[in-house]
Amino acid sequence: MSGHPHSFSRYCMQCGQRLTTAIPEGDRKRRLVCLDCGFIHYINPRPVAGTIPVRADGRFLLLRRGIQPRIGTWVFPGGYMDVGETAESAAARETLEEANLEVANLELLGVYTRPEPGVVVIVYVAEATSEASVGEETTEIGWFAPHEIPWDDLAFDSTTAALTDLVRRLAGQ
Ligand SMILES: [Zn+2]
Repeated sequence: MSGHPHSFSRYCMQCGQRLTTAIPEGDRKRRLVCLDCGFIHYINPRPVAGTIPVRADGRFLLLRRGIQPRIGTWVFPGGYMDVGETAESAAARETLEEANLEVANLELLGVYTRPEPGVVVIVYVAEATSEASVGEETTEIGWFAPHEIPWDDLAFDSTTAALTDLVRRLAGQ
């Protein structure tokens, strides 16, 4: 995952004039608006898709992040969806890019959202079907059992929430 979800232009996409913040007619929230042509620049959360790959022995894959934000912490493979992808195909692509790992049989684990930083994190449990190795944006990979999860060294709130759900699921609760 790279780039900040809230990076945006301060200039109108339609006419190039500088945007200003105002509450458009009929709205309740301040938006970036163009006073010149009336264009409203809505900023929406961006979907992120990822997998937690599980091996035949029950261990699951985590990556140590090689990029900001939260460089050096552990996370499951994931990243922003591209146009033209499903959430499943984006999750599998990110897993291949970051861990050189093929996955199959994706099952939805959960959807994790918070008001900030404006992302919707869609997480699948997946079957690992190849060997893994260090890929893009990653400095280390590891296969963890539930009692080995580095809880104090996880990247995001969504990482903690998804792994909590995974542990519960693996325990059959
Ligand atoms: Zn404009």
